[in-house]
Amino acid sequence: MTPSTLLVRDIHTLVTMDGRDSVLHGAFLFAEGGQIRKIGVRGKLPRADIVIDGRHAVVIPGLVNTHHHLYQTLTRAYAPAANAELFEWLRALYPVWARIDEESLYAAAQVGMAELLLSGCTTTSDHHYLFPRGQDRLIDVEIAAARRIGIRFHATRGSMSVGESQGGLPPDSVVQDEDQILADCERLIGRYHDPSPGAMVRIALAPCSPFSVSPRLMRATADLAERRGVRLHTHLAETRDEEEYCLQHFGKRPLDLLDEVGWLSGRTWLAHGIFFNRREVSRLGKAGTGIAHCPTSNMRLGSGCAPVPALRGAGCPVGLGVDGSASNDSSHMLAEARQALLLHRLIHGAAGMTVLDALRMATVEGARCLGRDDIGSLESGKRADFAMIDLRDVGFSGAGDALSALLLCAPARVRTLVVEGKVVVDEGELRTLALPPLLRRHRAASRRMLRGGRLSSSGNTDHHVKVVSDL
Ligand SMILES: [Zn+2]
Repeated sequence: MTPSTLLVRDIHTLVTMDGRDSVLHGAFLFAEGGQIRKIGVRGKLPRADIVIDGRHAVVIPGLVNTHHHLYQTLTRAYAPAANAELFEWLRALYPVWARIDEESLYAAAQVGMAELLLSGCTTTSDHHYLFPRGQDRLIDVEIAAARRIGIRFHATRGSMSVGESQGGLPPDSVVQDEDQILADCERLIGRYHDPSPGAMVRIALAPCSPFSVSPRLMRATADLAERRGVRLHTHLAETRDEEEYCLQHFGKRPLDLLDEVGWLSGRTWLAHGIFFNRREVSRLGKAGTGIAHCPTSNMRLGSGCAPVPALRGAGCPVGLGVDGSASNDSSHMLAEARQALLLHRLIHGAAGMTVLDALRMATVEGARCLGRDDIGSLESGKRADFAMIDLRDVGFSGAGDALSALLLCAPARVRTLVVEGKVVVDEGELRTLALPPLLRRHRAASRRMLRGGRLSSSGNTDHHVKVVSDL
């Protein structure tokens, strides 16, 4: 079968994010079989199976989300945790989250992914670390959800192994045995990890945080990642409480602990990275460790602000993460880029972060965090992942510069979104699944989770059957 072709013509503003930050006007983009073949402003237009009108649109590379906990869409704005800092927030939510099961996670993942897609995101990672007893296939469920909705997905196999009885923060009911964790990591890599360019699914390994896993598990995970050629992800330096925990339990600051267990490398990207001193920033830069900067979550929980300009200056790729939906409580990637821009201007002045800096983090640098050079920019040879935003929206009316408008005006939803050459959002609507029935299932799952009921104990609902057949 000949690969299908797609042409976007007469693009008002095309933001390439190539190394020269080229911005083209009146341009076209031609893709074949999921890959960009040509971008130009002049010449004869190639013929294509699908032709999209690019007038009145800004086209940007698909945004890359480097940190999320999709299951948390079920517990947005949870009242007992609405005004809490991280540790208190976690303690309030762990018992509710302990009720997660396959059906509720399938709906939660798709809702988060739908939000991401509609906000311009074509690639997301997810950090799932919660595996209540008997729920051993939750990463498989997330991958099935991603495949169905059509988003590029980096599933990170999270883990927690040190419960309250061992001095950790999570309740014992949600921690797993370390050998079982490592065996499941092996299984997932073998079954799903695709290292080839254009991969729609990759696996990374992601022990949750210093206060929920042991140094032994961190070390064994790093060895496994090295052996199987996958990336490493974890939360680090998110709060002062975490720093104190590390000093108390390990006699070390979080970064020293990370270094000791073999994680200070270019294979790793860290969520948050707020409390690093100058020397630590330079060590991270030398190692080429990536940072998933999550400004909304950090502000929402009152955690602090990552030293983003210093980290980038030191050589760390810094991507953006919306973080879990119980601490954002939104999965809008364009809004996250705007939040990053405004936060760092507040701290470093208007020149401290440009619109292009914020977009760079949301695209190419995020892609580097995930270990990819085939996405994040619009150039011949890269994957055909892009978002189109309509400048005729009321919020853009009167805007002078189309690129600046994307981040300075109110965050918009996309008109069209293409992932791997396939139209996933068209005229502002998801093409791959119907949103209203998904939202009904999601709201019901959320209500039952908050009430304490079990969703699919017998596994005999129609939807559960569908989930299992998708796996
Ligand atoms: Zn997180």
